[in-house]
Amino acid sequence: MAGLSAAYLKDLNVFFTSLFNVLPTLVLLLGGSYCAVYRRQRELFLMITVYVVYFLLDTQTDYYRDNGRVREDAAVVFHLCCLLLPLLFSIYALWQEKTHLFRDFVARCAVLFAVGSLALALEQSFPQALLSWLAQIRWPALHGRWMSLIQLSYPMFLIGFVTLAAQYWYQPRPLHAAQLVGLLGLFWMLPQTFILPFTLNIMCSQVMLMIAAGVAHEAYQMAFRDELTGLPGRRALNERMQRLGRNYVLAMSDVDHFKRFNDTHGHDVGDQVLRLVASKLSKVNGGGRAYRYGGEEFAVVFAGKTLDECMPHLEEIREIIANYDIKLRNPDRPNDDQQGRQRRAGSGASSVSVTVSIGVAERQAEQRTPEEVLKCADQALYAAKGAGRNCVVAAGQTRRGAVRMERAAG
Ligand code: GH3
Ligand code: MG
Ligand code: MG
Repeated sequence: MAGLSAAYLKDLNVFFTSLFNVLPTLVLLLGGSYCAVYRRQRELFLMITVYVVYFLLDTQTDYYRDNGRVREDAAVVFHLCCLLLPLLFSIYALWQEKTHLFRDFVARCAVLFAVGSLALALEQSFPQALLSWLAQIRWPALHGRWMSLIQLSYPMFLIGFVTLAAQYWYQPRPLHAAQLVGLLGLFWMLPQTFILPFTLNIMCSQVMLMIAAGVAHEAYQMAFRDELTGLPGRRALNERMQRLGRNYVLAMSDVDHFKRFNDTHGHDVGDQVLRLVASKLSKVNGGGRAYRYGGEEFAVVFAGKTLDECMPHLEEIREIIANYDIKLRNPDRPNDDQQGRQRRAGSGASSVSVTVSIGVAERQAEQRTPEEVLKCADQALYAAKGAGRNCVVAAGQTRRGAVRMERAAG
């Protein structure tokens, strides 16, 4: 939004004028080398495509600003950019990286080179014919007065939007969102190129920056999110534990007899169950936040809460998990859904359920650090396992329980 409003500013002082003049190059150098170092070729080529178009159009706008009229080749260059930018941007955005990095790189370079040299050759040899071919209105019925780009450009952008939106729909990754929004930004930018002074610089920088930010955000997610369950992982928990205030409650939960479950139903079904348990735990009420601690163990952090406030919510989540029927797909299940439903209605389908045990500990005077509190929660979990599983045990309770047991023994 800041970038968009900056594009509308007419009179900028010298500082911002020079900043916007170097911004696209700066972003390409920083973002491009970042992508190159981490071998993200798809993103690198997206940036290069945007930069090449920026460079071509910037040369034109500079000439226009200095001489008060457009260069002779302005129209053909602009129309070519309107046609080829959505095409190349969409191709590179959809082109998934292959494992063989060098071949992948060569193929991408070849596409850029082929398209670029063909356009250049046509522009040099038949400038007039190319210009009239580009500017021709092919479908007069579909032509609106608002259309300031060549007509061919609109189907290109439309195909790009639809395919990138579909890609985002099937794989909602930050990078795919950045590509989609980036294409929208470029679509907005092109008609304004010669009208608003810094649109070109600002929008091209923003699109490249968004792509670099998408790459960085995915790297962050890889580091802090657990891939199987989508919950934040151990590293995120460690970080969160450093920022807890004076009052908090930590809970450790562990799936009961999970080894046996894996042995009976297989590791894949085990993974499904972990996803399910994670999704239930992530919806815990009372301000709790769930993390995958490792394996089939999950930690829940309640910041600024007391034990009494958290216990009912943990008890509730334990019950939800225990009462949830997990429908198992038969391995020999037919692909046809209708048949599958019929079989499931019969005796073929089976359902299972799992339970979790939870140990809870509150920060107290004796346990000052989060690590100590977590250790207490772990001991309480151990006690919950000992008490027959499928239950919630608080650290205080164990001690009382232990005292009672000692008395009984005495
Ligand atoms: P308890 O009730 O005492 O906790 O018994 P348990 O069998 O759950 O205890 P244990 O910690 O010995 O077993 C943990 C099992 O969890 C071992 C491993 O097979 C399984 N497990 C750990 N991580 C994963 C995972 O990512 N996917 C699957 N499917 N299984 C996992
Ligand atoms: Mg365990
Ligand atoms: Mg277990």
